[in-house]
Amino acid sequence: MRFLASTLDRTIECGCGLSHHVATRQIFVGAGALARLPRLLADLGLSGRGLIIGDENTLAAAGTRLGTLLATAGRSSERLCLTPGAGSSRIRCDLRTLRKTQTCLKGNFQWAIAVGSGSIGDLVRISATRVGIPYIAVVTAPSNAGILSPEAEMLDRDNIPQQVAGLTPAAGVIADIELFRAAPPELIRAGVGDAISCAVSPLEWQLNRLLCAEPYCERAGRLVRTEFKNFLEAAAVPQDSPEFLGALTRILLTSGCATQLVGRNNPATGGEHAFGRAAETIAHQRGREPLPHGLNVAAGSWVLAESYRRLFRPRRRHTTGTYNPGRLEQLASGWKNFHLDAGQTLQEKADRLRNAEAGLEQLFAPAFRRAVSHLEEQYQTLRKLYRRFELPHRPEDLGLSPEDSAFLLEHASALTGRLSLLDLIPGMIRPA
Ligand SMILES: [Zn+2]
Ligand SMILES: [Zn+2]
Repeated sequence: MRFLASTLDRTIECGCGLSHHVATRQIFVGAGALARLPRLLADLGLSGRGLIIGDENTLAAAGTRLGTLLATAGRSSERLCLTPGAGSSRIRCDLRTLRKTQTCLKGNFQWAIAVGSGSIGDLVRISATRVGIPYIAVVTAPSNAGILSPEAEMLDRDNIPQQVAGLTPAAGVIADIELFRAAPPELIRAGVGDAISCAVSPLEWQLNRLLCAEPYCERAGRLVRTEFKNFLEAAAVPQDSPEFLGALTRILLTSGCATQLVGRNNPATGGEHAFGRAAETIAHQRGREPLPHGLNVAAGSWVLAESYRRLFRPRRRHTTGTYNPGRLEQLASGWKNFHLDAGQTLQEKADRLRNAEAGLEQLFAPAFRRAVSHLEEQYQTLRKLYRRFELPHRPEDLGLSPEDSAFLLEHASALTGRLSLLDLIPGMIRPA
């Protein structure tokens, strides 16, 4: 039931030249894992009063059992039930809810429990870091890969999603698969969508390693690849079985663990996440509630997977072009219409594109081809997962108009300063 035990709570002097440290100390995944909570609190050395933070649904799913477990163990705790803002059906990590969570935590509690993942995890991660107390994540649905992340996404005052980095991740995690049976299928669908980003994010990382000398860690890369393979193998079993839910939870946790290992989200996010954030931003600006993170990311993963496959089809020949600074200006001015200033990320991207220009041919060398060939092997299973979970493939599937869909395809990569295959195809790589 302990998961990732050989990687947690230790400093690893790694072959990549970095000294890795994962801040999360214990993870339990499995049926009945919730019962481990009192022991986990003791192992983590947490004393004093705790605040259990969730929403109506997650507290209904796990709150009563948590309360009983804590009371039986003689632990003092209170509950904070968060409510969605006006005009929204979901809890958002916005300024209003952050202020509320922080005010409640400050000075009153020595530890917290985030009940739920997604926005609740983001809210508690930011608030607990700011207040300076540890927290435990109790997962009520495997809905996204942010559970172990040292980063979070919050909405700024203009409702634009912003990444917050350098946060203290959960000290411990409990993912009780029995709780997942009551989870809305929609959340599991989003989790599958987010997990699928691991089909393309390792390629995007290797692309940046190859063309921009971005630091790369084989240990973190292998961790994600291996667990993703396990997840795809479990794709054949029924989706409500403990095997499938366990495998889904493990890949979502692993991508966060890899992020902690290297201190950046490079192993787990690439252009597909920029695509997801772009779709979310467009929806906000059009006054619509965006789809869950995992679904936006699923569409981005499909677009990227198809781009990689097209590029590396056998006998396909390509010419390489040059970096065109004018295109980046077009991207920046396009996003201005959505009140988003992409200037800083595009500055970083411009540097990377200039560096990439000289080495572009390396993309077609055997080493990178081999990395892409894994995607080819996984393709049929991925297709089945998209069909079974009705995951979005294209921008139009995200409810965007034809104009916004075209804009998204063209401009999504501007939301990351790193290189993505999405940057290279429009100008620097062309079919011969
Ligand atoms: Zn994600
Ligand atoms: Zn390493």
